[in-house]
Amino acid sequence: MHFKYDLHSHSTASDGTLSPHELVVAAKEAGVDVLALTDHDTLDGLVEGHRAASAMGIHLVNGVEVSVTWQSQVVHLVGLQVDLDSEGLNSGLQRNREFRQWRAQEIGRRLEKSGVPGAYEAAKALSNGKLISRTHFARFLVEKGFCPDMKKVFKQYLTHGKPGHVKGEWADLEDAVGWIRQANGVAVIAHPARYGMTRTKLRRLIGEFSEAGGAALEVVTSSHSRDEIFTIARHAKDFSLKGSCGSDFHGFGTPWAVLGRYPEMPAGIPPVWQDWTFNNLAESA
Ligand code: AMP
Ligand code: MN
Ligand code: MN
Ligand code: MN
Repeated sequence: MHFKYDLHSHSTASDGTLSPHELVVAAKEAGVDVLALTDHDTLDGLVEGHRAASAMGIHLVNGVEVSVTWQSQVVHLVGLQVDLDSEGLNSGLQRNREFRQWRAQEIGRRLEKSGVPGAYEAAKALSNGKLISRTHFARFLVEKGFCPDMKKVFKQYLTHGKPGHVKGEWADLEDAVGWIRQANGVAVIAHPARYGMTRTKLRRLIGEFSEAGGAALEVVTSSHSRDEIFTIARHAKDFSLKGSCGSDFHGFGTPWAVLGRYPEMPAGIPPVWQDWTFNNLAESA
């Protein structure tokens, strides 16, 4: 039996454009058997997601994407198979969300000073009262014509040295891995090739992650090129880590990140789902 896994996706609980229900329906249509909803710093979408998943007959994995600051850089950890009621994980995520809320207001103030009024209110409205991401600011700036597209808007407004950039004060690497493990989950470094780190620095990150009890690298994801997939697979082998795959789907507007569509995992990498079992998937097997 060969399931199709997509272990990285977002809903309106963070910066995706589909509700958890709509996301599950879209995953089913894309032929995904096992979907992880991994919203940024929140588990909020998972209850709705599970309701939809049992109705649609697909397996939903409890996931989260935790923002981490490591050596002054932002790194994302995906947590998979986490317990929803873990106190350690929930209080850690709560701390990240508090920083996020303060940061959103600060981004708003900085944009205001550089001639973009009302950005905080607009981003807040776009987030539907849920967690505010830079993605919501980006959508507002594009809608108002400050920038032609989402890629440019991050470069011109929301990254280091730009008017809407605020330095991250997210979770520590070790703490974040610890929260995921306290919730009986497995920790995965999300899109490792996207951080622009030198090989030495990336291997230092992977080493510390592994020491802290991290389990896997996201070898295959939409933002990795073929070469990057093989490089990250090599690191996974060297550190005896498993491999994960996910589209990092945020909605239908981004043609490079499509639910369930990404290259195969290179041979010889044990998949992170190796020991998982799914009772409710017996019929679709
Ligand atoms: P935040 O966690 O609020 O800082 O926002 C990070 C999110 O912004 C990521 O998860 C992506 O969804 C999005 N993002 C970051 N950089 C880019 C980019 N260059 N183009 C499009 N989306 C981006
Ligand atoms: Mn995102
Ligand atoms: Mn990410
Ligand atoms: Mn993501």
